[in-house]
Amino acid sequence: MATMAERTSDVLIVGGGVIGLACAWYLLRAGRSVTVLERGRPGDGASHGNCGTITPSHAPPLPEPGVLGRALKWMLKPDAPLYIRPRLDPALWRWLLKFMAHSNARDHARGARIRAGLLNASYEALGTLLDETGIDCGLQRSGLLYVFRSTQYLAAHAGLPESLQPLGITAELWDGARMEREEPALRPGVTGGIWFPGDASLRPDQLVAGLTRAVREAGGEIVENTPVDGFEIGGERVTALRSGRRRWAADEVVLATGAWSPALARELGLRLPIQPGKGYSLTFARPALAPRRALVLKEPSVCVTTWADGFRLGSTMEFSGYDERLNPVRLAALRRGAAEFLHEPGAGEPTESWYGWRPMTWDDLPVIGRAPRLRNLVIASGHGMLGVSMGPVTGMLVRDLLLGRAPVVDLEPLSPARFG
Ligand SMILES: Cc1cc2nc3c(=O)[nH]c(=O)nc-3n(C[C@H](O)[C@H](O)[C@H](O)COP(=O)(O)OP(=O)(O)OC[C@H]3O[C@@H](n4cnc5c(N)ncnc54)[C@H](O)[C@@H]3O)c2cc1C
Repeated sequence: MATMAERTSDVLIVGGGVIGLACAWYLLRAGRSVTVLERGRPGDGASHGNCGTITPSHAPPLPEPGVLGRALKWMLKPDAPLYIRPRLDPALWRWLLKFMAHSNARDHARGARIRAGLLNASYEALGTLLDETGIDCGLQRSGLLYVFRSTQYLAAHAGLPESLQPLGITAELWDGARMEREEPALRPGVTGGIWFPGDASLRPDQLVAGLTRAVREAGGEIVENTPVDGFEIGGERVTALRSGRRRWAADEVVLATGAWSPALARELGLRLPIQPGKGYSLTFARPALAPRRALVLKEPSVCVTTWADGFRLGSTMEFSGYDERLNPVRLAALRRGAAEFLHEPGAGEPTESWYGWRPMTWDDLPVIGRAPRLRNLVIASGHGMLGVSMGPVTGMLVRDLLLGRAPVVDLEPLSPARFG
């Protein structure tokens, strides 16, 4: 016999990462009652140990001409920044084929325009979000710097500032001498860099903790240790969510479960081709000679973020399914990459060694929109490498969808309907 729904609210959000919590905050602010159901604790997923950079600079999507050649070369190197573990996984191969089909100049330019719209709107909204919630997560509007040691690699990226300009993103090319002046933390041998003054960085765990507090203070309920494991459907609506013997009902349901979304979508009869793109990070005490702003060390593809009390190296994109192991080869590659570029690349034992699964779509665009066939289900997932950067705008878009308001950016390209 089915148990009565334990509680009803206007909106049920599944997943308490940066995306689910941002949706909760904007909906509460708009007067809706909200319950978040979280499998573990808020921030247990990718939102915890990521690099915390806010990057309009990353508007160009991953699928781009030439990516296939690089990926094939890297597949043979277990410590490469991009690694696809060769295995028989039809969903992964279908995903890769779609990714390759999108790796052309036209789709790349379209993706960059759409992502720039999202990233710029999100960057603008972040300040207000932090002011309104009183969250202190060490936001530093000190930009982000790409660092190159090889002249050829620098030359290959030299056109970036010009190509980003029409997207409203400012970037400057710096020569080796300027790099030395601006970033004493870098070892000699840097040939140049690209400076993005409009980027920022923050402590992602503090952002999640702050959002958790703000959601609760605004009257939202966050139910921890509650994995949603079933749905009840009546006609074209999700009528209840289940976790073990407990049930919840709501007018609207938002699925914000990051890399876990495809399995839950399958339960709902939906196709959501999202692959877990595994990344790693190592956190250390802040070194004496710390970088002045967030860096991306381009050749090894290592992101370096420095906070008042810490220092993080993060990177790698590994397609190895839902593998929960911390791969020592990849952690060592992070340290090695940093040691080539920095005087003080992180000393001693890290205070935290971490992995997270980025929710990756094959067009590198998030999925934000109403699900086909289920009229009260909204998907907010697939933010790939940019979930922190796109958190505020995603919350605003989900609010606009549920309230029937005009969205802050066009939602059509983000619709789950694109997966058929
Ligand atoms: C190494 C690394 C570095 C990164 N650096 C950056 C960066 O610098 N800037 C940036 O913008 N982004 C960055 N990202 C990406 C960013 O971390 C993600 O895009 C973002 O965290 C995704 O947020 P989310 O809320 O969708 O997913 P998650 O944070 O993974 O949250 C999903 C939540 O759903 C919960 N859940 C899962 N299944 C269920 C269920 N059945 N029932 C209930 N709850 C469930 C999980 O426990 C989890 O808490 C990085 C990622 C990695 C791995």
